[in-house]
Amino acid sequence: MSPASFHPPRRLLMGPGPSDLHPRVLAAMAQPTVGHLDPAFIGLMDDVKSLLQRAFGTANELTMPISGPGSAGMEACFVNLVEPGDTVIVCVNGVFGGRMKENVERCGGTAVVVDDPWGRPVDPAKVAAAFAAHPQAKALAFVHAETSTGVASDAAALCRLARDHGALSIVDTVTSLGGIPVRVDEWGADAVYSGSQKCLSCAPGLSPLTFSPRAVEAVRNRRGKCPSWFLDFSLLLGYWGGGAKRAYHHTAPVNALYGLHESLLMLHEEGLDAACARHRHHHRALVAGLEAMGLSLPVAPADRLPQLNAVRVPDGVDEAAVRAALLTRFGLEIGAGLGALAGKVWRIGLMGQSCSAAHVMACLTGLETVLAEMQAPIHQGKAAAAASGVLFG
Ligand SMILES: *Cc1c(COP(=O)(O)O)cnc(C)c1O
Repeated sequence: MSPASFHPPRRLLMGPGPSDLHPRVLAAMAQPTVGHLDPAFIGLMDDVKSLLQRAFGTANELTMPISGPGSAGMEACFVNLVEPGDTVIVCVNGVFGGRMKENVERCGGTAVVVDDPWGRPVDPAKVAAAFAAHPQAKALAFVHAETSTGVASDAAALCRLARDHGALSIVDTVTSLGGIPVRVDEWGADAVYSGSQKCLSCAPGLSPLTFSPRAVEAVRNRRGKCPSWFLDFSLLLGYWGGGAKRAYHHTAPVNALYGLHESLLMLHEEGLDAACARHRHHHRALVAGLEAMGLSLPVAPADRLPQLNAVRVPDGVDEAAVRAALLTRFGLEIGAGLGALAGKVWRIGLMGQSCSAAHVMACLTGLETVLAEMQAPIHQGKAAAAASGVLFG
């Protein structure tokens, strides 16, 4: 092998993330690197912070992107808030809730698991029962938009339950932010993290995060040191919270932050409500097309995430062969099922820049072509018109 420059293939990214990046975001990241303590860069950090506050719907002072993917934001919440001996109620209705449980246990906490079936939202009544049985619980952790199943849970109701029981809420909004409404202050949520590569359509590797004053207080009142040096907020805040006199903690991913800034600016220009409406509209068109083809979705309509659509694989169809054909022939990426849903569903993302009429039509046409060739039991020649009717009718 002789070393050569890497030129990635052109793809349409319609899986569970990353989503397609807008040329404005790519161009922003290609600008010259400056020092991470350069006054110009510190100005950019302040702008990123205020754009993130708007996106999250919060006035929280501690709002910043963690230098790491969504999983790092998740871990930052748990290592800062959970200490050995703490009890945390963890809602598990898919893969990512299971990871929250793992985080609680690695911090030495006791996880009280509230299980719901995969494909169903978290049941607030079960959470209320868990609080009644474990009144000492320090926090409630749940996933707002469970990407493994395509289900939305009622974040407002769950955060209210936590407040009513004097507990903190830890909320995963990795897939929700920018796709469905996220209203941190209105919910009274305490520790909320997201990801850059889903509905924000930025490059993977950053995790926007926000902590309420109550959560900051809980970090201050820790009995012992945070077990992670890198994610310790008492240290990180000297960098992100220090105003003009920021102190070196780690070298921020400068160019990645140019990209996040541009993607947040684009979200601000479009408007949060308009972005959410766009996701709902294209979701309706995709579903109309899939159903016209004879495919079905396992999640009940009221619980569906517009930005992540689980679709049943028809009997006898090799789901991996379908994904491979879409990728090699049409450059179209969709996702496989995870965990309990592996082999049973595809996951079609309509996230951020990947949520457009062109994406919906390309996906329906590609799927129909591939499934028809495999002799799958579908109706041909109906999907495009059904989707178009919703989009433009
Ligand atoms: C993608 C995702 C994560 C993890 O984000 P990474 O950037 O892959 O680390 C966490 N939670 C949910 C709900 C996700 O969809």
